[in-house]
Amino acid sequence: MSAEDVLDALVIGAGPAGLTAATYLARFRRRLAVIDAGASRARWIPTRHNCPGFPFGVEGPRLLDRLRTQAQKYGVRVREGRVTGLRRDDRGVFTAQTRDGPDLRARCVLLATGIVDRMPHLFELRQAIERGAVRLCAVCDGYEAGDGTLAVYGPLPVALAHAEFLRTFSRDVSAVASEPAEPDPAMRERARRAGVRLLPVPEALRLEDDRLVMRFADGERRFDSVYAALGGDAQSALATALGARCDDNGERVVDAHQQTSIDGLYAIGDVVSALNQISVAVGHAAIAATAVHNRLPRNWA
Ligand SMILES: Cc1cc2nc3c(=O)[nH]c(=O)nc-3n(C[C@H](O)[C@H](O)[C@H](O)COP(=O)(O)OP(=O)(O)OC[C@H]3O[C@@H](n4cnc5c(N)ncnc54)[C@H](O)[C@@H]3O)c2cc1C
Repeated sequence: MSAEDVLDALVIGAGPAGLTAATYLARFRRRLAVIDAGASRARWIPTRHNCPGFPFGVEGPRLLDRLRTQAQKYGVRVREGRVTGLRRDDRGVFTAQTRDGPDLRARCVLLATGIVDRMPHLFELRQAIERGAVRLCAVCDGYEAGDGTLAVYGPLPVALAHAEFLRTFSRDVSAVASEPAEPDPAMRERARRAGVRLLPVPEALRLEDDRLVMRFADGERRFDSVYAALGGDAQSALATALGARCDDNGERVVDAHQQTSIDGLYAIGDVVSALNQISVAVGHAAIAATAVHNRLPRNWA
């Protein structure tokens, strides 16, 4: 293996985190590759208003296009594909395997692989998200959901916590159980204090115009927006296989520079953060890309 075969960095994932990291690294004149399986969560985002620099809102696909164009401007090419295996040899060089292309070798790897949301079973899910009848993140758009009839759908303790948060915006908030659970007295008291209605598992969900209808044993209820609080699965199998540490909650442990417990392996964006936000993802990317540049051998002009 010659030194030329080894990239400075490999970025796995081209959502907001990976694309931002790629732009930074390319502007640091680093040799890098980006590989992406094409399933960024940002593809789901209808017009949003909490993304810095877009006072009139931006749709997720448009933001991804702009981030990609920005990276391309500095010579970055995003290769379509999925990294299926990652190993690190005793010289600290990583080798990434893909199904449909040659192996890639790099001195550092930035894992920007995101999470996969657990979504409610709803035939018209995409339309429901586009119309704001189903939402995923109250931090993102609770302001826009506003003072409507809102619900949170998830395991009851989680749904109640999110419902309390939504009381910032609306007077009419329900916590709807996604799995059978009898609320204990403490939970009932919390819900009472917050003015949150606790509801059992609905028999069925459907989209009707711009609202989500839930059918219960005693009748139907209509909600302007239902927040899914079903969690998500961090796409971190590559880090796990290398032995990167997690905390007790299953979150990947990273240091102040976003480095995992594996030397040279960095994790950025949703894959590592509980506050799953574009602004957090790009912040991680800036920190990690700068740390990677500073640790690599100098590339003086
Ligand atoms: C409906 C919805 C609305 C949202 N609204 C907002 C909002 O208003 N404001 C906000 O800030 N955030 C919002 N978010 C969250 C936002 O989309 C995420 O925080 C952001 O996309 C995270 O970026 P990321 O780069 O970490 O991950 P992602 O954007 O998910 O990108 C990860 C990429 O990695 C790829 N990948 C995964 N595994 C591999 C592999 N093994 N090999 C190659 N590629 C791989 C995936 O295919 C994907 O393309 C919303 C999310 C959803 C679903």
